[in-house]
Amino acid sequence: MNKEKDNLGSSSLRQKALEVLKEKTTVTISPFLEPETMKLIHELEVHQIELELQNEELLKARTIAQEAIDKYTELFDFAPFCYLTLSSEGEILEINLSGANMLNQVRLHLINSNFGFFVADHSKPEFNLFLENIFTRHTKVYCELTISTHENIQIQVLLSGVMQVGKPQCMVTMVDITKKKMAEEELIKAKEKAEESDRMKSAFLANMSHEIRTPMNGILGFTSLLKKPQLSDDEQQKYISMIEKGGTRMLNIINDLIDMSRIESGQAKVNLLKTLLNTDIDDVYNFFLPEVTGKGMQLNCHTALSEEEAAIFTDREKIIAILTNLIKNAIKYSIIGTIDFGYSLKSSNGINNDKDQQRVLEFFVKDTGIGLSPDKMNIIFERFIQVESGDTRIYKGAGLGLAISKAYVEMLGGKIWVNSELGVGSTFYFTIPYHTDTTTNSTIDLITATPKKNTQIRKLNVLIAEDDESSAMLQKEIIKKYCKKVSHVYSGAEAVEATHKNPHLDMILMDIQMPLMNGYEATKKIRVFNNEVIIIAQTAYALPGDKEKAIEAGCNDYISKPITQTDLIDLMKKYFG
Ligand code: ADP
Repeated sequence: MNKEKDNLGSSSLRQKALEVLKEKTTVTISPFLEPETMKLIHELEVHQIELELQNEELLKARTIAQEAIDKYTELFDFAPFCYLTLSSEGEILEINLSGANMLNQVRLHLINSNFGFFVADHSKPEFNLFLENIFTRHTKVYCELTISTHENIQIQVLLSGVMQVGKPQCMVTMVDITKKKMAEEELIKAKEKAEESDRMKSAFLANMSHEIRTPMNGILGFTSLLKKPQLSDDEQQKYISMIEKGGTRMLNIINDLIDMSRIESGQAKVNLLKTLLNTDIDDVYNFFLPEVTGKGMQLNCHTALSEEEAAIFTDREKIIAILTNLIKNAIKYSIIGTIDFGYSLKSSNGINNDKDQQRVLEFFVKDTGIGLSPDKMNIIFERFIQVESGDTRIYKGAGLGLAISKAYVEMLGGKIWVNSELGVGSTFYFTIPYHTDTTTNSTIDLITATPKKNTQIRKLNVLIAEDDESSAMLQKEIIKKYCKKVSHVYSGAEAVEATHKNPHLDMILMDIQMPLMNGYEATKKIRVFNNEVIIIAQTAYALPGDKEKAIEAGCNDYISKPITQTDLIDLMKKYFG
């Protein structure tokens, strides 16, 4: 077939040459020459023209080939992918401009250098396997690597390589997949987060349902028992105390939930203040002492620094919240024995008094309770995690206390951990940086609500602005013995009107969330004509910023629900004592 084509090609070439010859005006052939010689000359002329034609064709073909080479080079160099040719040892034999750009190098410097030089250490085994597979499998091979470019910037690349036929080298394409990988990672994270949220939501619902129904069960049950006629005083007290316990337990759960949601929404902030640590430890001790001794157990507290040394900069509220959570657990998960808590001064590397190391305060809460198995010691710091077993389910809780404590410790720049032995007891530890103020000798000004005890309150004229009937009733009951008159309105607008009509009002207990006109608005309107009356804002949200908002609106003070008798009376003593 090819031969036929060739013949055809050469016969058409001869044909063309004959035509060109015919057109030539100059005739070389002389009539005096022998016919044989004339034929020979004719043939030579035809050949000459054939050669000229062939030469022309070759020139054209060469131009076309050059154009093709130029196009190929352009494609090769400026393709969006990096192309390179590697030897079986990984030496760069050829690389296009995109490749040199990707590696952030001049192309000339790359030739003969080893590609492995750019491969990040952790990707090196993968790259070696990639080369090995290309030359042993003879098929296209892929791998993903991290490479460090000239300026030490790390990028993720996808390599695909295939051996070149008959040569000990391979063609490799390299694509920068850094952005794709980042997007993939983001997606995976988002997916994991969504799955985790889903799991958490189910766990949360199951837990909350249990944790809220149980105390509600007690509250409603004992309330209906209270209705029975002819109950003895003892029975009444017993039922009331059960209702109170149920209510406290519900409130603890709600407070934990609010704390957790503040942490998760990023609203929980660290508020560093000068703090008298030893005084706080004492307060915590005094707070828990009755409960611990009531359980037949002992409570000891340990302070390692003098009063002056223990005057530190920290977020006092958070330290107290963490200690409270840990001590509550120590009480909850122990039946007998002793609870020890306190702190000591340590270096962050564990060596005491090492001057070069950052110093930390290491707090501990040690109990002689049920203890934990080693596999549970880490997971208990996660949200909603409780060591589920037939025994431990008898202990109440939402599984949030340790998660909140961990978040607080981390916000303060420390860490939290536990050492425990099943059936023997647990010691929870946490650290915080030890900052003392060495630049000033100023006295520590602590924010302490110190209402004067046993102060008499004069009889007051009070307005309760509250849309919830039971809350209003409770407030009235608490304050009635200090009042000559207590009125009740249900909305902000009514509160404004009532204050107008009654210029001798001493105090307004102003609920913030009321229909039509809220407590902030009502306060602002009242302040236009009455600056004397003491307005105490009360909300059930207890969110950060609530107090500031209330003060800004013109309230004198703020109290969060559930309102306790002590808190409310203390506030009244503050203003009217
Ligand atoms: P809760 O106590 O509300 O269940 P926490 O987050 O405070 O939630 O604790 C998580 C789990 O860790 C508890 O359910 C309990 O199993 C375990 N735990 C916490 N403190 C102790 C302790 N002092 N001794 C034994 N187990 C504990």
